[in-house]
Amino acid sequence: MISTHYDVIVIGGGPAGSTTAALVAEYGHRVLLLEREAFPRFQIGESLMPGTYWSFKRLGMLDKLKKSAFVKKYSVQFFGSSGKGSAPFYFFKHDSHESSITYQVLRSEFDLMMLDNAREKGAEVVQGTSVHQVHFKGDRATGVQIKNRNGQRKDVFARVIVDATGRSALISRKLKTKTVEPKLKKASIFTHFKGGVRDKGIDEGATLILHTQDKDSWFWYIPLPDDVVSVGVVGGLDTLLQKRSGTPHEIFDEELEKCPPMRERLASANPLFPLKVTQDFSYRSRAAAGEGWVLVGDAFGFIDPVYSSGVFLALKSGEMAADAIHEAIEKRDFSAEQLGKWAPEFLPGMEAIRKLVYAFYSKNFSFAKFLNAHPECIDGVINILKGNVYREDVTPIFEPMGRMCDLPEDVEHYADA
Ligand SMILES: Cc1cc2nc3c(=O)[nH]c(=O)nc-3n(C[C@H](O)[C@H](O)[C@H](O)COP(=O)(O)OP(=O)(O)OC[C@H]3O[C@@H](n4cnc5c(N)ncnc54)[C@H](O)[C@@H]3O)c2cc1C
Repeated sequence: MISTHYDVIVIGGGPAGSTTAALVAEYGHRVLLLEREAFPRFQIGESLMPGTYWSFKRLGMLDKLKKSAFVKKYSVQFFGSSGKGSAPFYFFKHDSHESSITYQVLRSEFDLMMLDNAREKGAEVVQGTSVHQVHFKGDRATGVQIKNRNGQRKDVFARVIVDATGRSALISRKLKTKTVEPKLKKASIFTHFKGGVRDKGIDEGATLILHTQDKDSWFWYIPLPDDVVSVGVVGGLDTLLQKRSGTPHEIFDEELEKCPPMRERLASANPLFPLKVTQDFSYRSRAAAGEGWVLVGDAFGFIDPVYSSGVFLALKSGEMAADAIHEAIEKRDFSAEQLGKWAPEFLPGMEAIRKLVYAFYSKNFSFAKFLNAHPECIDGVINILKGNVYREDVTPIFEPMGRMCDLPEDVEHYADA
């Protein structure tokens, strides 16, 4: 039975919401997490970065992940437009700590594990209940109106409202703080296949990133348990969708024709569900927090999927926001400054990933050429791929890289959406 008052209401039970709810509840505060769907539910974003290890450790998730059937990920491998593969980037080569090995997760199961973990830590978790609107008194968020499966509505109040609704971005859409990254207007078509060809040994769980021959688009290949593989193609919104005729299925097949190593891997594989389409996924809110509210995970922002950074950033922002919320409750200070205290520390990591995304999309840029010319930058590049985005060797790579491709300036937010 949902009460009418809590310390904190978390809207959305993806990785960001579960992390925030678990850690705020662990501090001893009363937390209500409201999730629209009944888990398990499908979600895209299966490949984790090794840097997630430290959040999992704090959340008490490491043993659960070790006991799971999720596929171990030791490396990422890139294939150029010629179809030739780079040597795999093995994360453990630069650091033999167990945090260098991570997982390819089936999100339906992983998100359920995270949600159960939040409940075990003391959060009240309610599924099948959607937040219809966030209540504001002036600028201050005071509560939410919920709608359960039977259509019944109820108002619930809290000192802090956490928006973890993913790309629904409930608060930033309402307050019009959502800004989009104009140079990363992309779209994606994806599904799961059964029976794709996998490499052997520790390469079995590698994430593969494969450019098409014209380099206008690229595929991801993420091996999951039970011989399932997540496959998707990403390209410019215009070149992949808007300027194309044909169904998503036809477009996907056309792209596959332009990517022989991907085509070969899928020659005997069968799709498990109709192709899904998504677009416009690089954006950020102008503010991470306001009076009585805070945004975490995709509800705050997301950058292109090429480096599998989404879940890492969701966990990291959830963790940092949880600490700021605890401090806010202790100090009885629910101002934007207090609740958004974590953002200036968080953003440089997001910016490092964004710059590496720009390099990836620069047609004349090649990581192999860059690292040959600047071998001193290899640790910095690998640290970003691992999610160690706050290490000292990360920022210095962008000066020499910026001489080989166009990199963006650091920004707090983009142009208005
Ligand atoms: C094409 C593509 C590929 C990607 N690949 C990867 C990858 O390989 N690796 C990776 O790390 N990331 C990847 N991502 C990103 C990843 O999917 C997200 O970053 C991640 O899921 C963010 O977690 P979250 O908790 O913020 O949001 P979500 O996982 O979206 O969770 C939000 C939750 O909020 C719930 N919700 C929404 N609205 C309401 C409401 N009104 N009331 C109650 N509940 C609500 C939803 O049901 C959902 O369960 C990819 C993204 C895209 C677009």
